[in-house]
Formats: sequence, structure tokens, C-alpha cells
Amino acid sequence: MSGLLIRGGRILDPTSGRDEPGSVLVGDGRIQAVGPDLDAQGAEVIDAQGAWIAPGFVDMHCHLREPGQEYKEDIASGGRAAVAGGFTAVACMANTHPVNDDPAMTDYILDRALHDSPAKVYPIAAATQGLEGEVMSEMAALVKAGAVAFSDDGHTIMDAEVMRRVLEYSRLVGVPIIVHCEDRTLVGNGVVNEGPVSTKLGLPGNPAAAEEVHVVRDLMLAELTGAHLHIAHVSTAGSVEAVRRARERGVNVTAEVTPHHLTLTDEAVLGYDTNTKVAPPLRSAADVAACRAGLADGTLDAIATDHAPHAQHEKEQEFTEAPSGMIGFETAAAVVLDLVRKEELTPLELMRRISANPARILGKPGGSLAVGEPADVVVLDPDQRWTYDPAKGYSKSSNSPWAGEKLTGRVVATLVDGRLVYHVDRGVLVP
Ligand SMILES: [Zn+2]
Repeated sequence: MSGLLIRGGRILDPTSGRDEPGSVLVGDGRIQAVGPDLDAQGAEVIDAQGAWIAPGFVDMHCHLREPGQEYKEDIASGGRAAVAGGFTAVACMANTHPVNDDPAMTDYILDRALHDSPAKVYPIAAATQGLEGEVMSEMAALVKAGAVAFSDDGHTIMDAEVMRRVLEYSRLVGVPIIVHCEDRTLVGNGVVNEGPVSTKLGLPGNPAAAEEVHVVRDLMLAELTGAHLHIAHVSTAGSVEAVRRARERGVNVTAEVTPHHLTLTDEAVLGYDTNTKVAPPLRSAADVAACRAGLADGTLDAIATDHAPHAQHEKEQEFTEAPSGMIGFETAAAVVLDLVRKEELTPLELMRRISANPARILGKPGGSLAVGEPADVVVLDPDQRWTYDPAKGYSKSSNSPWAGEKLTGRVVATLVDGRLVYHVDRGVLVP
């Protein structure tokens, strides 16, 4: 049998709870065996000494920019950056040009992904036509075409009645509604978290309440409708607490948090680096601590990158003018390993939040190393030190606040359906 043996690492399988030394044999696209003393049987060997062997990461929130903004990213470059970061599947948001609010567009994205991307791509379709927050998209047809969820990400559905109907309809088609919670009227022209930092910088503030009023509203509407609400990029202590209480009441809610909201505060904006401009904005130290605690206690289910490429000329504007977003695929693992190093999460629980949980939320396979499962696997060295240089990365864009930083923890190899698609020494290998 031709295949691959990933030899001699620490097996971390969040689905079975397995955390022990061992090897993983893959072949025919699937996990063939997991255990301590596997024979290579002529298979190619990947050395995992000192590294973790875990299910491939699943990113439930990214922007691949195709079609329409291929100068920032496309499905090929985004897919390459994803596997270089250990992501074997990524779900892309609908704010392309044109918007993914049409089954033909969902088809197009899936077709491009099949040909161009080494990572699996799951399209998220627009919840409302044109992301305008007014008329519901054709959800049944979009799900039939392959949409895994609906979201107007980047925009908030301001009309509560439209939001209610979107949630009600999502129950019939059986996929989650992912919400970007920022009240447009409260955000105003705010570009940085409202607080001492916005005052010091003299930049308009965006208050935590702008996020929280919509988190609370949408939790109430999820309770009313019984629909599965997923809250994107939770960034404030109040949002974490609202989700925690709703969960206790039995509301069908899941939530995600980004690597940047887990590790950077608004102090990162003090140098006016536009790569720190994101929506929602980087928050206070207390908010970051609450997000970390929420991830640790399971209130926040998933880590999602919100990988959002922008060209250099766009980010080289005044802070108030530059677009929001940062790239994140290739730095995510190293950044979130901080929670393991500070013993806030075990390695197994971290892997659960970056693979099994997002896969489950999207209703997709993943997050398991069980025999017979698709061989989507990552080999991660948690101790390897490296310097991140976006110019040497795979994204077309370089808008990262970690550019030039020394990071600890590096993806050694990534397998998708049993194929080695990335190796740290050889780069991205296919297609
Ligand atoms: Zn968003």
C-alpha cells in the first residue's frame, strides 16, 4: 500500500480524547492505523519527533477574495496559505464581488477550490441578497449548491425582523447563521476600541457596546426561533458573558474567537500600524482575558482566523481610511499556542477548538484521527522558533501585525485526504 507514515509524535485526537505518543499511517486518503509501533510497509515517512500529530485545522471564517478582488487573494493563494498554516479546510465568507448570494456563485467557488486549492473550501453564502440586510437570500438553493452556513459578515443585519426571519428559515435548511455583531449606529466612524487608547491616539472610538447590543439581540432571537446562531469573532467581556448565560438557558448558540482577539490588546494600535485595524477592533486587556477564559471554559467553541487580505496600497493609508482586517492562516497556530504555554488550555483542548469544534459547527467531517476518517492531518512542532515573513508566505497580501516577529510553534507538515500538501522544508506541494 502506498501511503504515508507520520512517525513518532504526540497524538492529539480531540474526538477520542487520545493524547499519547504514537504514529499515524495514512493511505487511500484515509487514516489506516494509529498506534505506538506502526510498520511503514513501504510508505513514505514523515518524522514527527518532538511534534504533535493532530487533525487538520478547520477555519470557519476567512476571506478568499475570489471572485472580484484577486489582487488581494484568490482561492489558489488562500488555499496554499491555509495548508501552510495547518488548515485542511476553510470556510470563506460571502463578501466577494459579486457577493456569494447565488447558487451559481457557490458552484463557481467550489469548482475553483477543487482545481486550485490544496485545502478544502466550504462556501458560506450571504444571509441577505447583496449583504444589504433587507431581502433573504435563496437559502434552500444555496444549501443545495453547497453552502455550509449563511452570513452577512462584514455587515450586521440591523433590521431585527429580517434577522428573525433569516433565523427561522435557517432551521428549515439546517445550517447555522453566522453573525458579525456591530451596531452601525453605535460604531459610527469608530476605528479603534473606545477607551484610553482611542483618546490617546485621537482616533474615533468604537465601543464594546456596539458589539454587545447585537450579541444580546441575536441571542434573544435565537431563543425565540430555536435556530442555530453562531457569533463570529467575539471580542468583548460582555459578549462572552452574554453567550455564557444564553448557553445556560439552553439557547442554540456557538461562538468563535480570533487569534488576534485572544492575544493583542488595543495597545497594539498605539504605533498607528494599520495592520492592527480590524472589525471588531482589538480591545482592552480585560476583554482579552475574558475571551481567553471563555475559550478555556468552552463558552467560546472555536478559534477562527478571520483571515482578511488587503493590498499594501490599501493599508498604507491614514488609520481612519485603511480597510479593516489582517491575514492569519500562517500565524494562527503559533499565536494561539500562547494559551497552552500559559497553561490556560491543554494541547488536546486547543486542538479541539481549532479542528473538531468548527467542523462540528459546520456539519463537516474533521477533528478526528479515527481509523477510516479522511486523512486531514497536521504535524505541529510546538517549540520551533521562527521569524514570520509574509513575503515568504503564500498569501498574496502581507497585512499582518506579526510581520517580522519571532514566533514559537510551527507547522511541519499538512496532509489533505492523505496527500502531503505542505512540508516546512519543501513548501506547498500540490496542486
Ligand atoms: Zn466579521
